[in-house]
Amino acid sequence: MANKLAKLPSLSSKSVANHSCDCGCGLKCHNMFRPGHDARVKGGVIRFIAGMPIAEIQKVMGKPFADAVIATLGNAERLAAWGIDAADAANAGKAVAKAS
Ligand SMILES: [Zn+2]
Repeated sequence: MANKLAKLPSLSSKSVANHSCDCGCGLKCHNMFRPGHDARVKGGVIRFIAGMPIAEIQKVMGKPFADAVIATLGNAERLAAWGIDAADAANAGKAVAKAS
């Protein structure tokens, strides 16, 4: 046959990106984050713990990102992986609960 086309690449050898990135950007990814987006959230968490108001983080990065920062405060496993003290995060989280 004249127009015999090459076989399509198989999808079965690759996993489908079906997780929504945890930074709140809404993009699909294979793991928890799109490459580099974990650093965004880590930076947000560090700024928040250091005293940056969540409203300011939200103003610059958007509400889904601010929500991701707040959610991460309760994720002890992720905080530990990032070398962030969970007690610091808990205290910062309490301040937000009080303010809102
Ligand atoms: Zn993302």
